[in-house]
Amino acid sequence: MSGSKRVLVTGGAGFIGSHLCDALLERGFAVTCLDNMSTGDEANIASAQANRAFEVQRGDVCDPFDFDVDLVFHLASPASPVDYYGMRVETMHANSLGTLNCLELARRKGARLVMASTSEVYGDPQVSPQKEEYFGYVNPVGPRSCYDEGKRFAEAACKAYESEYGTEVVIVRIFNTYGSRMRSRDGRVIPNFVSQALSGEALTIYGEGDQTRSFCHVSDMVRGLILAMLTPGARGEVINLGNPNEMRIIDLASRVRQKVGSGSEFDFRPLPVDDPLRRKPDITRAMDILAWAPEIELEDGLDDVIAWFREGGRGG
Ligand code: UDP
Repeated sequence: MSGSKRVLVTGGAGFIGSHLCDALLERGFAVTCLDNMSTGDEANIASAQANRAFEVQRGDVCDPFDFDVDLVFHLASPASPVDYYGMRVETMHANSLGTLNCLELARRKGARLVMASTSEVYGDPQVSPQKEEYFGYVNPVGPRSCYDEGKRFAEAACKAYESEYGTEVVIVRIFNTYGSRMRSRDGRVIPNFVSQALSGEALTIYGEGDQTRSFCHVSDMVRGLILAMLTPGARGEVINLGNPNEMRIIDLASRVRQKVGSGSEFDFRPLPVDDPLRRKPDITRAMDILAWAPEIELEDGLDDVIAWFREGGRGG
């Protein structure tokens, strides 16, 4: 039930963004994808481009833009630590200037904006699981700060537009997400482990592998994002989206190796500076407001990613 509403997805050629575009098209929305392809890929939107309700605008979310839209998702930003370590200024721009541009558009058009924030706003959390009320424990000058503080600025900007102009915003804090269309050299742990296991290379484990993460399949994430956009009661809310099934990285490595049937060894490397030790979302709010909870078990989701990489995935 979408009428002919037009949706802007910034970062629509990226990993989550392209799945979001597909899901919106399936639900009958018209979709404009704005992407500068810095970490996105034309291949991700190849199937969407066959749909006449889809259009691509190749451009930077930091440059001024104007589109006729009813709804706005702002996902454009490098999101893998390996990516943003190499694009710190660009990451800050996408989350500051880019967010302000999206908010301006939402204000002018009377559109709802869903801001893709991140569990990184909690930094290296001193409490677990993380509830939305937690202010976080972030190093403002560390290697991850371009992303963490960029997203924290974006959240503050959403709140400023909401209180000054009454702009309709929903902030979603996205926890670790995985699925097809991740790049083999994306740098994040699941694509790394799967591509290493498939090629028989050693699995690179940072630290002792005792740190934890909770992994959400991209189809669950996209369903949550769309609910955040369409649920009236989500207006003004900050909502965690992620899978609360927490696991140690070393256990993930064993699971991937076993599933692939690989003889890969483990290669222990130094833990990156400020790498959070624990991460697990409290999703009570998403369950209450959006009636959302993840449905895909890691076992099944890993099969999906392994199949994606077996079929060639994406190189770079
Ligand atoms: N990690 C790892 N080996 C890798 C890539 C990542 O052990 O090849 C660890 C990383 O140190 C972190 C966790 O896996 O503790 C998740 O890293 P990722 O880059 O996927 O996302 P993050 O949650 O840190 O943003």
